Order: sequence, then structure tokens, then C-alpha cells
Amino acid sequence: MRTAGRAAALLFLTSVATLAVGAPFDFDHAPGRLPKDVVPVDYRIAVLPDIAAMTISGNESVALRVRATTRAVVFNSLNEKLTDVRLDDVPAAAVESDDAKQLTTVTLAQPLPPGEHTLTFSYTGRLEKQPHGLFLQPYVNPDGSAGQLLSTKMESTDARRMFPCWDEPAFRATFELTVTVPAGWATVSNMPVATRTEHGALATVTFQRSPNMPSYLIEFTGGDLKSITAPAGAAAVGIWAVRGRERDAEVALADAQLILGDYNDYFGFAFPLPKLDSIAVPGGFGGAMENWGAITYNDRLLLLTPDSTLADRQADFAVQAHEIAHQWNGDLVTMGWWDDLWLNESFASWRGTSETDQRYPEWRWWERQDGARDGAMRSDTRLSTHAIEQPVADELQAANAFDQITYEKGQSVLRMLESYLGPDVFRDGIRRYVRARAFSNATATDLWDALAAASGQDVAQVARDWTEQAGLPLVSVAASCDAAGARTIVLSQRRFTPRADDRAPGRWSVPLRIRAGSAAPRMELLTGDPQASPAGRCGEPLSVNADAIGFFRVRYDAATLAANTRGFEAAADGDRIALLDDNWALTLAGVQPLGAYLALVPAMGGNRDPRAWEQIAAALATLEHYERGTPGHDAFAARARAIVRPVFAGFGWDSRPREAADAVRLRRALLAVLGELGDRGVLAEARRRFALFLKDRRAIRPDDQDTVLGIVARGADPATFERLHLLAAAEKDSGARRRYYLALMRVGDAALAERAARIALSAEIAPQDELLRLRLVGQLTDRHPALAWATLRDNADRLLAPFPKYTPLITSEQIPDVYWEGAAPQEIETWVRGRLPAEMAPNIARGMESLNEQRAEQAALVPAVDAWVAR
Ligand SMILES: [Zn+2]
Repeated sequence: MRTAGRAAALLFLTSVATLAVGAPFDFDHAPGRLPKDVVPVDYRIAVLPDIAAMTISGNESVALRVRATTRAVVFNSLNEKLTDVRLDDVPAAAVESDDAKQLTTVTLAQPLPPGEHTLTFSYTGRLEKQPHGLFLQPYVNPDGSAGQLLSTKMESTDARRMFPCWDEPAFRATFELTVTVPAGWATVSNMPVATRTEHGALATVTFQRSPNMPSYLIEFTGGDLKSITAPAGAAAVGIWAVRGRERDAEVALADAQLILGDYNDYFGFAFPLPKLDSIAVPGGFGGAMENWGAITYNDRLLLLTPDSTLADRQADFAVQAHEIAHQWNGDLVTMGWWDDLWLNESFASWRGTSETDQRYPEWRWWERQDGARDGAMRSDTRLSTHAIEQPVADELQAANAFDQITYEKGQSVLRMLESYLGPDVFRDGIRRYVRARAFSNATATDLWDALAAASGQDVAQVARDWTEQAGLPLVSVAASCDAAGARTIVLSQRRFTPRADDRAPGRWSVPLRIRAGSAAPRMELLTGDPQASPAGRCGEPLSVNADAIGFFRVRYDAATLAANTRGFEAAADGDRIALLDDNWALTLAGVQPLGAYLALVPAMGGNRDPRAWEQIAAALATLEHYERGTPGHDAFAARARAIVRPVFAGFGWDSRPREAADAVRLRRALLAVLGELGDRGVLAEARRRFALFLKDRRAIRPDDQDTVLGIVARGADPATFERLHLLAAAEKDSGARRRYYLALMRVGDAALAERAARIALSAEIAPQDELLRLRLVGQLTDRHPALAWATLRDNADRLLAPFPKYTPLITSEQIPDVYWEGAAPQEIETWVRGRLPAEMAPNIARGMESLNEQRAEQAALVPAVDAWVAR
């Protein structure tokens, strides 16, 4: 029975793979649950929200194209009751709405022949309290007054909560939306307002008909809002914020204008809507949503104040660069089904990062993303990982696709392909893809075909190894020398797994960028195993992942590693970073001893590359965490302080005029690790600065506040803790308030930590900051894992409520990863399983693998660290 079950599962996967993968988009073969014999062409939807009753009432008229004679019309609905359902004005014979299946079936008295028909009905539904469908968002204004607005969040499958519809991405249609709201409210949707009529206390607003689009991109926001606008090409860009805060959007507006212009050029296809609005929603959901022509953001991503940090400024640009890229990759061209979500997300991430890197070269944005690449490689190393393209059968699996593999691995793989094909050829391929699939849908094959046409190469052959196969390769390099000193390397590969577990095989076409010495890198595709290649002169440094662009690990033989270590200080920044990342990963995976990584640290010499030192600081912080409570802790901390102190001394506490963005960031990373390592000088200076800060807020720059206040909180006595708490509770600026509360959760004292946990749950957290609570409790895990776990366990419903779509993913994968030392593994696993359907088993396996991996790392590394210290 077990064997039969396994075989059946394999057959199922194979059939999904042949359907969804390897063919261009074709409506009839696009996966999905809705029958394709009836398709919507145009919707007219009128919605009347009742805020007091938290309900919606609506009227809908849908022009349909019937493709084959049918007696049933099936579409999505959730928590809605349909009445007066008519087909071409004839009452339906029966209407059944099934909330478990999220479907409504309209049965007709007579068979419906192929051709054009009209479905009409009235309905009632729910106004949501959480960000899915049409939801009510309460907030507190800076002056302390209360406000509320309505906004939407539809992706992936929640448009059906606002109005019944064919809620799958392949069912594109035009939409004409009408909403009735309080007369004093401003209203925003995908398209500009067409007509507006006031009647008493209410106003009815009809928006212009949208272009042909999927339902998950519909947007509506209404409230006491104000906008600022500017032209961009043939369109207008606007930013909406709660009245009184619109001036905080001036930087965001200039960014949007710039980015839209750049993308009109990059994609070779002008933004096709008359306007692009962005809406700063106070609270709502954590990130941003790329609704066509009306992008919604959590307001902290869009609004900047004098209290904002450089990181806030960078996020303002980078997140907009991601969301605006979606206006092409996602909105103009939509994935055919959620199994190709990466066509949306990997693309927007890659394009947004490239745009940010090009517009702000001083931010060194690709280098800054290296941590994200390395983190995705770490998840992808696990045996329970999944491929970028993955089968999606239902709403739950569609929501679960929004993970690190889809975003960060996807972005890295696209960058690797861009580097392999060359940026101009790659852009030409993207332009062909967008032109060919505009106002329609696409699969990965459509993309590979366009890139193949542009490059003349079999792109699919290389790309599919990375998108259809889970995991990543470890490339091994073995060098030999001839009598004249010319070096030949022999390259081989296997899947990179923890402790070289060989249960998971794999083979990839690996685009190598080989740099020997200071020569320009050359591309070589690793397809053989083994494969020999000339590689400069013996003794020269060597990288086969030059500039850290590839999504693979490399292990060099001892002689080559020694040459790389000798040339480390002068190596290209990316080559040095790749070697640090890989050697740390090899250490964590138990493939290489800790000493091989730590030998690279003194080899940094006088080099102060920020990402390299940030990587080292993070590794030392991990080791310090693993050492806590062991006899060797203090000796290790002393050794680690001796490594970091001289580097920090070169930066000092205060930034210099015109200092580079990543130097600001590195100063914080070094300060934070010295704080963790218990550096007395740093602790004393942080306290001194905090005393000044209490009198004058300019004493600690916004950029340094989270670090310095976190160090203060760690050593805080009750009086200091209370001063920091009062600061947080009284703060009007939402960004600063967030920083103060997060710092408070770094408290070291156990009794004060219990007080911190109560604060995280208390009513003093503003309604627009509901999302912050989970993060606050998560922060407590660092010093008080058992308390953090108990707080989460006992308040999980409330802490997870603001993330309705992501609750299963957070519960299964992130909670075991973050709370790994909060309780016995069995207790955590039992709790997680008890909250989730059986279908979540693969995700729970990922979370538990991460938990167990950290425990195994700790067990292996503590003796290794102690041996290194004693050496
Ligand atoms: Zn996105």
C-alpha cells in the first residue's frame, strides 16, 4: 500500500509537470479548478460597504462568452449569498454557494448555447477585519485622533471575498467598478474616476473600465486621503496618504516618476494605463501589492520623515522598483497559474534590484543583496526544499508559494542567466517576451522561447535545471600544474546537502564565471562531470563564481584555497564574498572544519569591504549565540572582540560627512556584534549616548538608534528599561516608535523580559502596528527563547491574525526556524501540526529541518570553537 501510494504520487507529479511545464501558455491547458467552457469578458460591479454592520451588498453584471453548450456556470465566491441570479434575464433554476470549495454553481433551466450571454445577480458579503478582500483598517493619527479607511488585498485568491468572480489568473476580463462610500472620502482604484455623484452623506463613484486583467489585481481604497502627483511619460504618477501625511511622500513620488520612466525604456513597452497611483495604507499588510495602476504599500515603506533612516530611504526606492516592475511582469503579462508565480516575483525582485543598483551605484545594491542570496542558498541546501516551479493545486498552496525560493533564489537565478547571456541580449529577450504576451498570460516556456530567439541559444536547457529542480550544486575544483606553471582545473559537481547527505542527487548546467588572478572573468558552462578547463597560472587566486553572481557553492582544493587566502585582501569584492559565504556554508554543513573559514578572517588584512565584514560579524554572532551558557563562552567572546574591535575603531561611533551607505550599515553591524560580545567600552558608550539622547533626540542619529538602544536595553536596569519604554509609548513618528519597541525587546534581564512580553501584547501598540507584535515577540527569542515561545504559543491566534494569507507558511516554516531553542523539538512540532491541515506536511518538514539543523550546528560547533580558542 505504501509503495502503491508513492507510485501514484509520482505519476501525479509527472502529469502536472508535463501539463504545466514545457509548453507555452494556452488557456485551455492552464491549470486551475474552474471549468473553461464559460469565460467572463466584462464585469460591472457595484459595491455598497456598510462599515457599522461590517457587510457588503452588491450588484454584478458579467458579460460571458460561452464556448461549449452547458447547463451550469461555475465561479468563485466566499462568504457571499447570491440572490436574483439571472442568465440573459431568465432566473436560474438553482444556485448553490459552497464556502468550503469557494465555488458558486448556477444551474440553468435550459442548456446555454455557445455565444455571448449576460449573468446578473445581487449579493451580500463581509467587510473583512484582516487584510484579505475588502477590509477596514483602523489607525491613530499623529495628533492622537482615530481614523479608519477601506482598502483591498486580493492576491492570491481573495477577490472572491469582495465580489463573486472567476478568480484565477488565466481568466482575464475588463472590470468597471462602482463603490458607494461616505461623501467626504477620497477614492482610488486601478483606473481614474469616471463619474461621481453625491447623495446626502454618501457618494457613488464609478471608475473607468480597466484593461483586460486578472481579478487578483483589482484594487479599491477609500478614506480621508490626499494625494500629490507628477507626470511620467504619457501617464501621471500619484501618491496617496492619510490627509496631513501626503507631503511625507515627496521622495516616493520622485522615485516613482524616475522608475516608471526607466521601465518604459527597459521593457520597450510604455506603461499602458493613464495613471499609476501608490497608496500608503497605515498598517494593512506588511509589504506592498502591485495592483495594476494602484499599488498599495504599508505606509512605512512609502512615507519618509526627518526620523527616517537610510535603510527606510533605500526601501522606499527598492520596494517601489519591485512593485513597479510588476506592472509589466505580473500585470501586463501574468503567469498562467500559480505554479509559475516566480515569473511574477523572481522577475520583479531581479528587475527592482537591478534598477536600484543602477540608479544608486553608491548603495552597491547587488552586493547588499548578497545576504539574501546566501540565505536562500541556505534554505535550498535542506533536503526538504522545493523547486522554483512547483505544483499548486489549491488556495493554500498558492499562498505558500510566496517564499524565499520564489523571491531570492528566483532573483539570483535570473541574474545568473542575465550574466550568462549578456545584459543586452537578455533585455532583448525580455522585450520580445513582453511584446508577445502583453495583456495575456505566460509560462516559463514563453520566457525561454523569447530568450532563445534573442540569444540563438537553447536557454531552456540551462534554465530548467534551476527552475524545475530543487536544491543547488556544490562545484568542486581540483587544480594541477604543468612544468611551465600553467594551471588546469578539473571541475565536478554534486548536490550540496547538509553533512554531504547523498540521498538527494542532482545535476545542473552551471554557468561559471572563471577569474584567474586579475584577468577579466570568462564564462564557461559546466555540463560535464568531470570537466577540465585552463585556469591561468599556478599560485594565482582563482574564482569560478566571480563577483558572487552564481547560485551555487564552490569547494577549492587545499592548494587553491591557500592561494585564494594569500590573495584575499586584494581580491575583487565579489570573489572575496563568495569565498566567505561558501566556506561558512561548508562549515555549517559539516563538510569543512571551522578553521578553514576562520583562517580567512585575518587574511582580510586592511580590507574593509562592508559586505565581507558584515558576513564575518554575523558568523561571529552565530558562534557567540551557540556558545552561550557553555564554559568556553567568555574566552570565545574575548577572541572575537579582539577581531572586531580594530575594524570598528577605523569607523568610530559617528559617521563622517559623505560616508558611503554601506559604511553606515557596517558600523551598525560591528557595533551590534560588539554589544553581543559584551564589549565593556561599547556598553559604557552606548549608555552615555542614551543619557544624552533622553535630553536631545539628535544625540543618536536615526540610523544608529536601533543598535545603540538595543545595546542599552540589553544591560538595562528597571529604571532604564522604563525610560526606554516611555520613549516608545510617547513617540508620534511611526518609524521611530517601531525602532524603540524593537530595541526594548533586546532586554537582557529575565524579569524585565517578562514585562517586555506583556508590552508586546498590550493595547499601547497602535492599531496600524498590529503586524509588529509578532516581530516583537520574535525579537525576544534571542535572549529569552523559552519566554518567547510560551508567549507565542499562548497568544498565537492574536499574533498571527494580521497575516491571514501567510499564517500557514509562517506557522510551519518560520516559527520552528525562529523559536528553535524555545522548547523541545517534539513540543514545537506537535504544536505546529495541531494548528495546520495535513496538506502542510512538506512545509512543516522544512521548518523542522531548519530547527534540527540549528541544534546539530550548535552541537558540532561548540567543541570546534573551544578548540580554536585553545589553539
Ligand atoms: Zn512582488
